Amino acid sequence: MFFIGIFGGGEKAKEIGRTEPKNCPRCHNTHPWTVYEVSKYFSFFFIPVARWGYRYIASCPICRESYGLHSKEEAFHYSRD
Ligand SMILES: [Zn+2]
Repeated sequence: MFFIGIFGGGEKAKEIGRTEPKNCPRCHNTHPWTVYEVSKYFSFFFIPVARWGYRYIASCPICRESYGLHSKEEAFHYSRD
């Protein structure tokens, strides 16, 4: 990017909670999965000026296996199954 340092952007993941303990299909450990809010952002002089494209994922803390969610509520609902 030509204007690196002035203009920036990318994706940011913010941890917003944990599910109930669940069994991972990949590593077979049972742990609470971490729920992340991921958004694209654009920044100008290191100040984020726009965030969009919010999505939510749950991720296994052991092997990083993850799946997408339609909403953050789904993460906490799904985990109680
Ligand atoms: Zn796992």
